[in-house]
Amino acid sequence: MLPEAVMKQAQQEMLDWQGSGMSVMEMSHRGPEYTSIAQKAEADLRELMAIPDDYAVLFLQGGASLQFPMIPMNLLRGKSKADYFNTGAWSTKAIKEARRYCDVNLVADSTDNHFTTIADSNDWQLSADAAYVHYTPNETIHGLEFADIPDVGDVPLVADLSSTILSRPIDVSRFGMIYAGAQKNIGPAGLCIVIIRKDLMGDVLPGTPTMLNYQTHADNDSMFNTPATYSWYLAGLVFEWLKQQGGLAAMAEINKRKADKLYQVIDSSEFYANPVNKRYRSWMNVPFTLADDKLDKVFVQQAAQQHLLTLKGHRDVGGMRASIYNAMPESGVDALIAFMNEFERQHG
Ligand code: PMP
Repeated sequence: MLPEAVMKQAQQEMLDWQGSGMSVMEMSHRGPEYTSIAQKAEADLRELMAIPDDYAVLFLQGGASLQFPMIPMNLLRGKSKADYFNTGAWSTKAIKEARRYCDVNLVADSTDNHFTTIADSNDWQLSADAAYVHYTPNETIHGLEFADIPDVGDVPLVADLSSTILSRPIDVSRFGMIYAGAQKNIGPAGLCIVIIRKDLMGDVLPGTPTMLNYQTHADNDSMFNTPATYSWYLAGLVFEWLKQQGGLAAMAEINKRKADKLYQVIDSSEFYANPVNKRYRSWMNVPFTLADDKLDKVFVQQAAQQHLLTLKGHRDVGGMRASIYNAMPESGVDALIAFMNEFERQHG
């Protein structure tokens, strides 16, 4: 979901942005109007996340998926090994891509428990000579989320925050780099945000294309080529909206409450189940199964009649998945819970 207030503002400004006589879609990305939109979006994101000055904020394209190869290309910096946590489908994809460029050491691997828990930090296999440590704080498909930022010493920590960025405050200074595809908590698809410590940029693998070098984008305010201007503008409107909501501390409170009440319904029922270790349950993606998977289709159909949409689980996991990102109001979760209770009464 996108916040309704944001979409209404975009609708109002669609044909004529603030008296400029142009739609944002029609602007030159180098003109003064668009420059002000781009700069304000970055300033608001820096304020929301309290991003220190020694970090660059980049507005890129290619989704989070293009970051999977860009990370080793840019961050190996003469080393030949990187550490990766494997906690779900997205870390698995990041690892597969990284293996094209370097040795990947698995710090912890949740494959055997079907991505339902994360190994205790005492059992992590960190390597001393890793160029960086990569992890996926929130696994979107499996609904598995790290409870804390892993402590990896001085090795730069890289996080795929695609499905949990802006859901709560985080200490950016703990990371070498954070990246996130926009289409969950930031705005529409087409944009990927990278927050990277400036000293980590510039020393790329030989043969790295100019466009895949973070330094290129940092040196050009993410305008080396034409950026995803409309997505960037809408992301800016979302950042403004988040500030109006009281910032990330306020979002954290709401998000925790939303998730807690949904898990509570699942746990207190014999009909619904969620397999994830309670300590590592996602605030954003809540997968759950029904007692009889033959009812899955009926559940999805009847939910849609109540305007409860896109609840079908990912094909790798089955069942249902409620993605309750920032823009999902608490009333939306309440409506889902009421529907789940009624469905259980009828079919349980
Ligand atoms: N990482 C995570 C955690 C994701 O949830 C997704 C998208 N669902 C991706 C990476 C891939 O993002 P994109 O489609 O923007 O490449």
